Amino acid sequence: ADLEQFAYVASHDLSEPLRMVSGFVQLLAKRYHGKLDADADEFIGYAVEGVNRMQELIDDLLTFSRIGRDGRESVDVDLVSVAQRALKALSTQVAETGATVEVGSLPTVRGNQRELSQLFQNLLSNGLKFRGTAAPRILVTSQPDEHEESAGAQWEVSVADNGIGIAPRHAERIFKMFQRLHMRDLYPGTGIGLPICKKVVEHHDGRIWVEPNPGGGTVFKFTLPTVESDAR
Ligand code: ADP
Repeated sequence: ADLEQFAYVASHDLSEPLRMVSGFVQLLAKRYHGKLDADADEFIGYAVEGVNRMQELIDDLLTFSRIGRDGRESVDVDLVSVAQRALKALSTQVAETGATVEVGSLPTVRGNQRELSQLFQNLLSNGLKFRGTAAPRILVTSQPDEHEESAGAQWEVSVADNGIGIAPRHAERIFKMFQRLHMRDLYPGTGIGLPICKKVVEHHDGRIWVEPNPGGGTVFKFTLPTVESDAR
């Protein structure tokens, strides 16, 4: 709890001075590009890059530490519309990569709308990002969770892609903070996306894990409790 509090306060309080540094470094880049010497242009370029990266890290850290802070504010959430909204937010990447994304029938669950949106957005954006040579194909489906004793009260949602895949030996590690399997210049990112997904799912009393996609690529699976009326 202390660490959570620290992450929240740190990321929150760091945002403000960072915004200031960011603003001025960008101003330097804009106003003085080509007016100093080549070294200066290069150094300012690195500073802009570093500041952007720190901004991204702090934003993600803040998102991470905010999960669960709303208490257990729970409403009925239709996962189809959550998935579709997440897709809309990613429409540029979908268009750029020529991806096809199919959203099958998904349950309505009780939970926090904002957090569940973050979950879908992170998983879909990873499916688009970690693509191979073929255009991404992502399939979102669900089925009642048969493994649970309370079968029918839990659903298992799958997000399957045809991307570069994840070796089974990394299956646990990728859910830990800042853990990434690839070079940043190949696939940009902070390594906070999956820890956010894990925290959201666990805050909803579910589990999340990864499996290889039999046809190549990756399947992320998570369970969520459904609303009573759906639990037949
Ligand atoms: P980020 O996307 O910022 O790198 P994540 O926490 O979302 O961080 O993911 C951690 C790592 O797991 C990624 O860097 C990547 O190596 C691997 N990964 C995540 N999703 C996928 C996927 N759909 N296909 C292949 N590798 C993935």
